[in-house]
Amino acid sequence: MSALKNKVPAPSDERFDPGWVAERSRAFETARPEDILAFALATYAPRVAISTAFGLEGCALIHMALQIDPNVRVFTIDTGYLFRETQQLKYAFVEKYGIDLTTFEPELTVPQQERRYGLKLFETDSDACCRMRKVEPNRRALAELDGWIAGLRRDQSPTRANTPHVQLLRHADGTPLVKVCPLARWTRKDTWRYVMDNGVPYNELLDRGYTSVGCWPCTRPVREGEDERAGRWNGRKAECGIHEPPDYSI
Ligand code: SF4
Repeated sequence: MSALKNKVPAPSDERFDPGWVAERSRAFETARPEDILAFALATYAPRVAISTAFGLEGCALIHMALQIDPNVRVFTIDTGYLFRETQQLKYAFVEKYGIDLTTFEPELTVPQQERRYGLKLFETDSDACCRMRKVEPNRRALAELDGWIAGLRRDQSPTRANTPHVQLLRHADGTPLVKVCPLARWTRKDTWRYVMDNGVPYNELLDRGYTSVGCWPCTRPVREGEDERAGRWNGRKAECGIHEPPDYSI
């Protein structure tokens, strides 16, 4: 990722005005994802980036963004528990598109965490594990940004059913952060169509019964009729916390 300017946005900046953001979000209910993405990249440059775990939506978003800005910044979290197939996909993206990708890692390596908290923290306290291995590194990544682009879709799960296209959040220090979800209205079918039509690489686990891919200890293939995210945490919870940060959403 290119060097970032640590400019704190002025409070009077309309891009962070709650009314303006809400109005943009409403207006985008009939917009194409490409247009929402172009808005995000133009409005929050240079402190804007796509976050991705290389799910189907992130793959589509990166491809879409590259058509608008070949230098678009992308960041990902390597929890230390990623599937080999996910790592391979990440390398395939860098090789195919030469993307400006930054990988953030947890402060503790997996062996350090295991020594301190036990071998299977993901089973004994998955909230603590997700907090250390996903939420904290994600927060570090977001600290450098004014605009956060994510691939959430409303039909992924009940927890995402009300995802707005544009949402005003706050960093822990109180400065504003705007989250943009260009694919909020897209269905899984829409996403697959885009990926197939454009030859976008995707995780080969999606061809083996997985519908959402996270860390290997907490991901299984889904069964017939199950929710698309039912294979995550085996139904124990639906989100890791990255997309539900109560302390800095407003
Ligand atoms: Fe830990 Fe599982 Fe959360 Fe990954 S998904 S950070 S392994 S609890």
